[in-house]
Parts: sequence; C-alpha cells; structure tokens
Amino acid sequence: MSDVRSGPCQWETVIGLEAHVHLRTASKLFCACPNKFGGEPNTRICPVCSGMPGALPVINGRAVALAVQAGLALGCAVNLHSLFSRKSYFYPDLPNGFQTSQLEPPVCSSGLFRLEASGGTRVNPEIRINRIHLEDDAGKCIHMGSSCSMVDLNRAGTPMIEIVTEPDLRSGAEAAEFMRQLRKLLMYLDITDGNMEEGSMRCDVNVSLRPFGAKEYGTRAELKNLNSFISVRAAVEFEEERQKEILEAQGAVEQETRLFDPESCTTRAMRSKEDAPDYRYFPNPDLPPIILTQAFVDKIHGSLPERPEKRRERYVETLGLHDEEASLLAASAALADYFEAALALCSSPKRVAGLILGELLPEASRRSVAFADLGFSPARLAHTVTMLEQGKVSLKVVQDLFSELLDSGESVEKLAEKKGLLQVSDAGALEQAVLAAIEANPAEAADYRAGKKKLLAFFVGRVMRETKGAGNPAVINELVKKHLGA
Ligand code: ADP
Ligand code: MG
Ligand code: ZN
Repeated sequence: MSDVRSGPCQWETVIGLEAHVHLRTASKLFCACPNKFGGEPNTRICPVCSGMPGALPVINGRAVALAVQAGLALGCAVNLHSLFSRKSYFYPDLPNGFQTSQLEPPVCSSGLFRLEASGGTRVNPEIRINRIHLEDDAGKCIHMGSSCSMVDLNRAGTPMIEIVTEPDLRSGAEAAEFMRQLRKLLMYLDITDGNMEEGSMRCDVNVSLRPFGAKEYGTRAELKNLNSFISVRAAVEFEEERQKEILEAQGAVEQETRLFDPESCTTRAMRSKEDAPDYRYFPNPDLPPIILTQAFVDKIHGSLPERPEKRRERYVETLGLHDEEASLLAASAALADYFEAALALCSSPKRVAGLILGELLPEASRRSVAFADLGFSPARLAHTVTMLEQGKVSLKVVQDLFSELLDSGESVEKLAEKKGLLQVSDAGALEQAVLAAIEANPAEAADYRAGKKKLLAFFVGRVMRETKGAGNPAVINELVKKHLGA
C-alpha cells in the first residue's frame, strides 16, 4: 500500500463512496415483473420497465420498507416525506431516457457507520452517511463486437438504494473494508443478496488529495462502477499516485469521471464531471411523494435484530460455539433467529448448530432453495436434537436420513424405527455384534490384546457398520473393552 505520509510532500487521501445496492424484493421497483438476476433476454419486462410511453409506475412498498430498514441500521434519520425525481440520461439500455431516483428529500439522511478494525492506519474510524435514496437500475448492453450491441432490459427497474458517505475514508484499504462490512450488514438483514458478480452491489469511489493538515478538500475524481473489493482498493491506490504526480508538478487535478480497468489496474478519463443541473432533475409527475407514518418507521426500528457482531460474540461466550460456527450462524439474521428458536426448545447449542451447518444449509444449497424454503421448522430440528441427546438415534443415522426427514414430514424416530435404525443401546443386543466382530477379525483381536489399543476404533467401526449406524458408540466402546481388555 502506498504510504502518503512518506516523501517530501505529504498528501492525505480523502474518499467518499456511493454504494449501489440491489434490494431483495420479489418484484421490480415500479411494476410486477420479477426482480431476479438473469433469464432469457427481455423476458422479464413489461410496458412500465421497458419505458413505453403512457405506462404508469406504482411504487413497491417492500422496497421502501427495506430502504428504511437500511437507514435505521446505519443510524440515519428517516424522512417521512420524500420524493422521486427524474434524472435524465441517454443510454441505449435506459428506454425512459431518465432514471427514477431521489434528489431532495431522499428517504434517509445523515447516519453513521463505525468501521471495525479498518485494516488501515486508523482504529475503528467513524464514517458519516450523507444520505440513502431509492432508485431503479437500468438494463444492460451486451456488446457483440465493435459494430453490434444488444439490449437486455431484464434488469431495468430493479430496486436499488444508493448509500452516499461523507468524504470520511482515508485509504484504499479503508474504502474496500467499508464496502466489505457494509455488504455484510446488509446481507445479515436480508436487504440484499450481496452478489457482487451479479452486480447486486457496486460502488463509485470519489478520490482527492490534500496536504496533510489542510482543512479544504482537493478536487476529486469519481471512479465509476467498481464491483469488487480488490478493484476499490486498487483504483484508489492508482488514483493516489496519479493525482500526487499532478499536484507535485504544480498541476491541477481535473474534476472528472474516470473508469477503472481491472486488467491494468489503471483509471482513464471518461467524461468531465457533471453537476446536478446537467441531469435536469425534476419531480416525477407520475409518482406521488412517499409519505411514511412515524408508526411505520417505529415498527421497523423495533424489529431490527441484534447486531451481528454482538450475536457472534454471545454464541461463542455464552453458548460455547466455535468462532467459525458462530460467524456462519450470525451471517444472517433469519438464520440466527432460526437457530435461537430451535435452541429454545432443546438443550444442546452444539448439536443445533451442527445440524444447521452440517445438514440443513448443505441440503438447501443442493436443492438450490433458500434455507427458509426447506420447510423444516425449528420445532422439528429441536425434536431431532432431543432424540440425539437421549440416544434414541445416532448422529450417523440422522445424517443418513436427513434428506428423507425433510421430505417425509415424519419425526426422526418414526423414520428410524421404520427402517430398523433406532439406536441400539441395549448391551445384550450389541454384545452379539461385538462378539461376532471379534470372531471375524482374529488377527486384529490378537494385535489389540498385544497392546495395539488404537484398534478399538476399528472394532467399534465394524459393529457400527453391522448395526447400520444404529449402535450406540459409547456402549459399543465399553463392550469391546470388556471382551478384549481395556
Ligand atoms: P455527486 O452526486 O455529484 O457525485 P456529491 O457532492 O453528492 O456529488 O458527492 C458524491 C460523493 O463524493 C460523496 O460520497 C462525497 O463524500 C464525495 N466527495 C465530495 N467531495 C469530495 C472530495 N473533495 N474528495 C473526495 N470525495 C468527495
Ligand atoms: Mg456521484
Ligand atoms: Zn416490468
């Protein structure tokens, strides 16, 4: 990382960031088309999102609620009255000729984000949030070579929020870390899927330099559309060097919009920076103002979950989970709520966490469904854990039967019983199997008796296999020792 404090001239880097975040709603911002990545080009469109004249937009209430939730999580003031404006552009993938966005007032203003262990030189710097506004995304141009581009409007009308920070970041590492932590928080709250490859989160980074100690900001360059943490940092660091050279040659940095090329890690000028009047913002006559009640805002505020880092800490310190398990569970508020709901009905945090992380999540990803759509209630999970605790079924059997357990709707002991897999803890029944295993493996038995105690696991394994995983390993252990000597 370049250290701007070294050298004869000492420049301080100043960065303000505009993060664009796709919202997790079922439908688009102003129409009923599905809000989903991909699809055959131009199959998820209607007259509204494809900009047909006369088609009328209707605001998606869920998108507004998510924007308010993001604002509250970032300590913003929610504006009970805000407005949609038209921001004029010409792009082939913007059929309206304008983006529907918010100028004044936006849905949320003035918040604060505390960066944890920023990775830069500063400890937990506070980054002020200037505003959060709602807007729709454009479609996409697909370039087919130098003479042909195609337009896909599936993305047009995707609900987004733009989160604008004050110029409070001081290095490329800090800016990247801000994006990383912001993404984590918004994913935790299920506000966005956070998928950066699919463009669900991207940002514009504004960079300027000033002499250390100066009060005034320098002239900034705006680096557009960065879609990875690595690009954010690399773009800032290239820009620091570029501007430093200009300033040290007594030149003036131009206020302009630049594009970052991830291949060469350089930026190049795209256009001189436009100002608000260039967009000819004006209130969208097709949309009424957004008017919220305080009760609506209070309700969202009241339902904000515990902060993820608090939760993770609590899971480690009071429930005895490993750091990694705790982080995985606390990555999503919905998942953590599920974990706690199940735990309230049984008594082993380790086992509940183990089944969620080892069985439920992998099963959800195998089936390509959201975790919540598996339809396995916290009560059923708690019951399964209780059966494990009571020794009615073995972990091996639960693991083997898990997929069926999800599909059948039956309890784990019913299912295990049907298949003859209820755990056998009855020493009499297991004793036969232990004796048979010893008889079938005389060489190992002799080695064991001669002191090769590691073979205990071998015999337990044989008996487990014989009982199709239904034998209670603790009981089998004792029985092997009884017959071969401890
Ligand atoms: P615009 O909407 O025209 O891009 P804004 O004034 O709203 O401009 O600022 C956009 C972003 O640029 C904000 O994140 C802000 O913090 C940042 N910014 C403004 N001035 C500077 C500066 N001199 N250096 C670095 N960042 C800046
Ligand atoms: Mg901007
Ligand atoms: Zn549509």
